[in-house]
Amino acid sequence: MSKSTERPDHLSGYGEFELINQFFRRSLPKKQNDVTGIGDDCAIMTFNEQLFQLVTTDMLIEKTHFIKKRIHAKDLGYKALAVNFSDIAAMGGEPSGIFLSLGLPGSMKISWLKNFMNGFFELSEKYKAPLLGGDTTRSESGIIINVMVIGRVKKGNVKKRSGSRPGDKICVTELLGDSSAGLKLLMDGHNRNLNERDRKYLIQRHRRPPHSLEEGQWLGRKNSVHAMIDISDGIGSDLYHLIEVSKLGIDVRLDDLPVSDALVKLAETSGNDIYDYAVNGGEDYGLLITVDPLVCEDIKKSFESTFDKPLFIIGEVTKEHTGVNYFEQDSIREFNNKGFDHFG
Ligand code: ADP
Ligand code: MG
Repeated sequence: MSKSTERPDHLSGYGEFELINQFFRRSLPKKQNDVTGIGDDCAIMTFNEQLFQLVTTDMLIEKTHFIKKRIHAKDLGYKALAVNFSDIAAMGGEPSGIFLSLGLPGSMKISWLKNFMNGFFELSEKYKAPLLGGDTTRSESGIIINVMVIGRVKKGNVKKRSGSRPGDKICVTELLGDSSAGLKLLMDGHNRNLNERDRKYLIQRHRRPPHSLEEGQWLGRKNSVHAMIDISDGIGSDLYHLIEVSKLGIDVRLDDLPVSDALVKLAETSGNDIYDYAVNGGEDYGLLITVDPLVCEDIKKSFESTFDKPLFIIGEVTKEHTGVNYFEQDSIREFNNKGFDHFG
């Protein structure tokens, strides 16, 4: 092997998804032919004649996902569950039970844990999804939070990442880039050009991301919605998951990406490119869907009257090329990063 093709002997430099595909993905045993495993927002198993069971798990690690001093324990408890509900939403499902595992330093204040659980139960009780079990251990290396959520969905309503078809319109249910801008404000401190209202708005979008359960179930019932995924790593990464197995391509119009006024102001006054936030910023947690183009306008109107918020059409699925092209007017814009990746 020539030197230039040698891979490093450590994880940095490998993409998160390369690691998943290379080391974790194996074919399922034949008796498990009704199971869909690695590759979607949740694993899917048969529950009974009518329903699928959904399972998802996500981990939050201190210093990787959050800085303890920069997020209130109550918001962190809420967020740890919201990001898992978001994966259930992305399949069109509803949550039915939760498991919570915590690694906690012995020096942790009891009030922190109490606040964390208040935020956690605020969301679990709202959706009547009880905490059914978990694990609690001492950690010598900061706080480790792992949440697993079990959910259910009617068999006909389940939406996968892989369902997109050529010509489909691509839509998102939330503004893009706010969460990563909020994180930047938390890390960099004060931005003199941003007023307090805009600053608070962006930070709140980072601390309390949307989980989209109602929207996901509504979209799950629409046959014209062909594919669905939640936006956890930025559309720069999550758009690729929509075409990973289909050999299709995606065209996105940058002008159509929905961004908040607060984000526009932050980008303008700090000299940052707004599209870097909107495309590559992580943790926005809305839904990304592909919709039959013949009824997309009807779905959009109906969504907007049901939820009193916009559904944004940002591009199309195409069979003309593979990969994702971002158009700025008529020219294609290249991005260095492709969304958030833990290792890449
Ligand atoms: P999401 O952002 O929706 O939680 P990820 O991008 O983290 O999904 O993961 C992509 C897929 O890979 C999911 O189906 C997830 O369950 C699976 N996956 C990630 N890490 C592992 C692992 N260590 N072992 C098995 N499957 C994994
Ligand atoms: Mg997901």
